[in-house]
Amino acid sequence: MADYDYDLFVIGAGSGGVRAARISASHGAKVAVAEEHRVGGTCVIRGCVPKKMLVYGSMFAEELSHADNYGWTIEGKSFDWKTLRDFVNGDVDRLEGLYTKTLESHACEVFPERATITGPHSVKLASGREITAKYILVAVGGWPMLPEFPGKEHCITSNEVFHLESLPKRLVIQGAGYIALEFAGVFNALGCEVTVINRTETILRGYEDAVVERLLHIATARGIDFRMNHQIKSVEKLDDGTFHVDIGLMDPLHADQVLFATGRRANTSGLGLENAGIEVGARDEIPVDEYNQTSCSSIYAVGDVTNRVQLTPVAIREGHAFADTVFGNNPRTVDYSNIPTAVFSQPPLAGVGLTEVQARETYGNVKVYSSDFRPMKNIFSPHPERGLYKMIVDEASGKILGLHMIGPESPEILQAAAIAVKAGLTKEQFDDTIALHPSMAEELVLLK
Ligand code: FAD
Ligand code: NDP
Repeated sequence: MADYDYDLFVIGAGSGGVRAARISASHGAKVAVAEEHRVGGTCVIRGCVPKKMLVYGSMFAEELSHADNYGWTIEGKSFDWKTLRDFVNGDVDRLEGLYTKTLESHACEVFPERATITGPHSVKLASGREITAKYILVAVGGWPMLPEFPGKEHCITSNEVFHLESLPKRLVIQGAGYIALEFAGVFNALGCEVTVINRTETILRGYEDAVVERLLHIATARGIDFRMNHQIKSVEKLDDGTFHVDIGLMDPLHADQVLFATGRRANTSGLGLENAGIEVGARDEIPVDEYNQTSCSSIYAVGDVTNRVQLTPVAIREGHAFADTVFGNNPRTVDYSNIPTAVFSQPPLAGVGLTEVQARETYGNVKVYSSDFRPMKNIFSPHPERGLYKMIVDEASGKILGLHMIGPESPEILQAAAIAVKAGLTKEQFDDTIALHPSMAEELVLLK
């Protein structure tokens, strides 16, 4: 140890980096962390957390629209974007403070600047200081990726969407993955005209088809305009600050903002990986083994930068496993099976395990159970939308292979049900459980 300034130098104080730093320090390591933007990383500063708060803020529109049916008279109701935006960003500041305190209380030294790798055991800070460490953990996350086209500089990404000066009247979104559909839901609920441009006919690739189809149906009925098999070709800024968006039709679309949500690439550009002999993959990601070790034995990587599963709880697990392995004398890997996921669209959808198509490919004979129901919550809603739950079961063993749902609160319900799926429970064991009535979750034990 005496040969190095630190036992561990973490580059990036996001979900994976903060967890790895804190746990390594609690195992007795001397730890330093460099963060070039804000402590907390994507999830806390410009991802999961502010996104979910915007979702909550926008959902009041729906709730208020049928509150009068429940006897509430709300006079003069109106929405102010800046109030919501500033409240959300204020809470982000609070969380950043909490994350910083966590690092400090674990005696992790924080350098608020960019770090680059200069060798297997050394980094250089933007200020010019050189630091050595026995181990380096790269936890630099990812960055929005945009294709090349004229007018690209006029477009925003999820990084900028939390800071808009005003609510766009017309929002054009390219992409039909997580970010596109979550923000389409938020801005549609807030009264904007939203157009989603998708290069194919498939939205939310990898999710259960029936659930995705239901989202498409509901989102279209709520007024989101989907243009499938199109791609933004150019964006022209007009004198009044608005945009003409050419998607290859006779007439361009007219927009106040153009949001690109076309995936994220690993943040490895200019990181100096070549100084440690590390080569990146096709999406700039750092290849690692099951213990998060790179091709350079003193350098590890966790989270989005490895492009395995780009989700916060996964980055956190990887960071924790790294710390236990390297400093806790407890080699641990992460189990990537049955990770529950959700899209906070409106309504939200969630899933765990295999889709029907994947299950048939792997297991051959599977049984499919479903419930297509109208949630009681929606009875007075101007959108009397139906929920859909679908369970995929291995015919031979009765074991649940996948569970997928769309409807109010489906991420909350799915998280609990995912424990049962992960534990390998059967459809029969679900059916043995008495329904909790009246609830939406009771559909889980009543599937036909
Ligand atoms: P990050 O959290 O991105 O942290 C990397 C940090 O490294 C950043 O703070 C960056 O500034 C810093 N950094 C980069 N390079 C350097 C350098 N050279 N020197 C110093 N610092 C550096 N996931 C979910 O599970 N649920 C969600 O609901 C969800 N919503 C999302 C919504 C949006 C809009 C986005 C963009 C992402 C969302 N995600 C969600 C994904 C989630 O945010 C990421 O998977 C997670 O943050 C990855 O953590 P990480 O530690 O790998 O990287
Ligand atoms: P996604 O991978 O979810 O979606 C990207 C979308 O952009 C897809 O529709 C994809 O189409 C399309 N696309 C990709 N490249 C191009 C291109 N060159 N031109 C046009 N369209 C293109 O990425 P996001 O950016 O939405 O989100 C990044 C990641 O962040 C997610 O994968 C997820 O892991 C994480 N995230 C998680 C959330 C959650 O847990 N709720 C919320 C937000 C983000 P195609 O399908 O044809 O490839």
